[in-house]
Amino acid sequence: MSGFEGSYLGASDKISPAAIMECKICWTPYDPAEGDDHRQIDPGTAFADLPDDWSCPNCDAPAEQFLVREDPGAPAMIEAARLAAAADRLTADFREIWNAKMRDVPMVNKALHVQAVGFRMVGGRPLGVLIAPWFMNLVQLPGDADDWSALTPGTREDITFPSGTYEFLHNVREQTGGYKACSLFSPMGEFTSQAKAVEVAQAVMVALFDEANRAGTDRAADIRATREAEIAAAEAAESEAEAAHLPEAPTRRAVITAGMATPAE
Ligand code: FE
Repeated sequence: MSGFEGSYLGASDKISPAAIMECKICWTPYDPAEGDDHRQIDPGTAFADLPDDWSCPNCDAPAEQFLVREDPGAPAMIEAARLAAAADRLTADFREIWNAKMRDVPMVNKALHVQAVGFRMVGGRPLGVLIAPWFMNLVQLPGDADDWSALTPGTREDITFPSGTYEFLHNVREQTGGYKACSLFSPMGEFTSQAKAVEVAQAVMVALFDEANRAGTDRAADIRATREAEIAAAEAAESEAEAAHLPEAPTRRAVITAGMATPAE
């Protein structure tokens, strides 16, 4: 996938605020870092934010006739768009589970809805928090070079971030494809509002990358110690609904989520 090429033609969503444009009649550039002295356009003004009647300072051609010379912001914009698309697919999938299977399950928190929070590229893969009325999970999605379509659901994998090592569970869904999830909270009864859940999800995404959260103990040993109980729990989970609320185990996730949920008052 490449950046936008060709005439601008008013397609402001195709160029980033950093795009350097040029007139296709006389090749005069517009560089947002410089602005335009002729029209008192301040440096830092994106091409898309120029006044409607702005035209080429040299030949008076309209802005629509400008071409992209260079767009240093394009890769970030493309990445942001792909991340948003991946998060949208994930939330659409879990909204469907909510509507089809979970709505009437007693342990759900009806004050909450499915929402993807804080998704960003980490090590070449989208990572963020998925909030649902019955769980909050850290979710990792496949990167460009990954084919996760054949992951074995239920397989456990330790994934390391600056704050420590976390145990993720592999899963595959028809719409989402393969993904890896680490349970943060389940069920979600402690959360009094969606805003509170989002706040906690955002705090998790910060704490995850904070080395200060790294405990002085051997986390791998702790994880090994809890794994047996988790495997037993996973085997007992017969349906997807049951699998979605594995018992909270004292793994490292307790470190990053400690004190984050406010009990209902
Ligand atoms: Fe011109």
